[in-house]
Amino acid sequence: MPVKKQQKTVINPYGTTIIEDYERLYKEFGIQPFKPLLSQIPNPSKYMRRNIIFGHRDFDRILHAIKARETFAVMSGIKPTGEFHLGTLMTAQEVIYFQKQGAMAFYCIADIEAYEDNNISFEKSRQFAISNVADLLALGFDPKKGCIYRQSKEIRVKDLAILFGRGATLATMKAIYGERHIGLYLAALIQAGDILMPQLQDFDGPKPTVVPVGVDQDPHLRFTRDLARRFRGKHNFIAPSSTYHKMMRGLDGSPKMSKRNPMSYFTLGEKPENVKMKISKAFTGGRATVEEQRKLGGVPEICPINEICAYQFVENDAAIVEAYQDCKAGKLLCGEHKAQTIEHVLNFLQNHQEKRKGFLNKATEIIESGN
Ligand code: SF4
Repeated sequence: MPVKKQQKTVINPYGTTIIEDYERLYKEFGIQPFKPLLSQIPNPSKYMRRNIIFGHRDFDRILHAIKARETFAVMSGIKPTGEFHLGTLMTAQEVIYFQKQGAMAFYCIADIEAYEDNNISFEKSRQFAISNVADLLALGFDPKKGCIYRQSKEIRVKDLAILFGRGATLATMKAIYGERHIGLYLAALIQAGDILMPQLQDFDGPKPTVVPVGVDQDPHLRFTRDLARRFRGKHNFIAPSSTYHKMMRGLDGSPKMSKRNPMSYFTLGEKPENVKMKISKAFTGGRATVEEQRKLGGVPEICPINEICAYQFVENDAAIVEAYQDCKAGKLLCGEHKAQTIEHVLNFLQNHQEKRKGFLNKATEIIESGN
């Protein structure tokens, strides 16, 4: 069965992830709290400052490398099953953040996983990959200081997966991922190859590597860390570090944005009128009437409007705190807050969509170059 701890805490990269209480992940899954490290980080990202990155494994190693200006790598990627949405945006920005802190950056287009998990053909995922890479470049990824590749074209990743096959039994795979078809177990081995490829001699050998991901991906990290230890003798791997961000709730108030419900999320390529409509209709933590809200205040803790502003569209930390406090005090009403949010989001999307047009040729070149 997938990793499951009591009711309402389920972490499964190939299924449903439900997190009711992030604190429990520290005790039950061995994830370490991120907050105690915050004051030591020279230039923390907004996700770090806002407690959106809530946990880590061995981030101390990365912190040391940043402070000592030693070589380290960042590795993450995207499953090319569609356009960039707010979840993939977050991961891309985390990769770019570490690249700017000096990391060698690796961004994987997980087309083998897209085939095995979502039955997306390689031709279809190639088209999504071009679009996704254009988004990544528009967000600021520097391809001269990084490596963008497709799993299906990267022989080093596939070679590592073959090697790692000897380090995993069927019982291990079932314990981590549940009963799945063999292709998904293969995809998990390939992902372990993705995570450890930055440490091969072709990329100057072993080095601390951070993998910034949503907490639903933690089983891949635990599996890869175990493989890194098992194959240390051959490659001298350093167990990868990771950071975990919280899962953004759906605009409809559901625990997670989901492609199954288009009203729960929007993509970066979506038409402004669609995005406006989705935000206007979004669930909020507001009260039934204006009078009640003025009297009792809203509940920003359960509100997706509060979340999309904090996670993504409001850069100023003080403005986030002010909106939170004004909501609690009943000074800010949902209609007003939604209107402000729509303005922030549409400004971002307009700028981004304009920029990404200029990167489509470069993205095609990267994907067609066989990387
Ligand atoms: S005022 Fe804003 S944060 Fe508060 S409940 Fe309404 S939309 Fe959500």
